[in-house]
Amino acid sequence: MLPEGRALAWDDGRAKTADERLEHADLEDTLAIPYRAGPIVAPASADDDPGRVRVSELFEATYGASRAAVLKQLVPWKFGGKTLTVHRKALAAFTRVGARLEALLAKDQGLAPYFEGMGGTFVWRPIAGTHRQSSHSFGVSLDLSPARSAYWRNDPKLRWRNEIPQAIVDAFEAERFAWGGRWGHYDTMHFEWRPELFECR
Ligand SMILES: [Zn+2]
Repeated sequence: MLPEGRALAWDDGRAKTADERLEHADLEDTLAIPYRAGPIVAPASADDDPGRVRVSELFEATYGASRAAVLKQLVPWKFGGKTLTVHRKALAAFTRVGARLEALLAKDQGLAPYFEGMGGTFVWRPIAGTHRQSSHSFGVSLDLSPARSAYWRNDPKLRWRNEIPQAIVDAFEAERFAWGGRWGHYDTMHFEWRPELFECR
């Protein structure tokens, strides 16, 4: 049930391909592939995309349905000497993950390059090549260094590869951020706060 009293369908009863599930998701579809935190492993197939399916209406009702509405909800988050903006509902999670990451960096300066050029916490935009709103539109996502990232659209053969260290992934997943490196349609610099994926395992 959304705040305005509208209900979202759990299961619309339609059989869908992976692409149709992305375009026309119901809530059941968003949880159809369980999210697997833990050791980094290559996804089982291109469509092994746990958490990549999202119901836009749920994000819009939770965080704001327009750029202007989300902008009013943004608050500063300080990390690594920078100030980024995140949704106020996600600030506590960003603060906790920031503390974990700063502790890691204090122990191992070799991790610093993964955070260079980091950003993209809030950008109101569609996902590349689609009309669906990116999770960056809601201030709940963070991209690490693009120079250390692999993105499926840059490889027509979708050969998964990853440079992001386990310790960084562990820090985010401990605070219920889903990682784009878990997806067959990989986006390894991408983390987004998705507590529901961790509740429903
Ligand atoms: Zn991203």
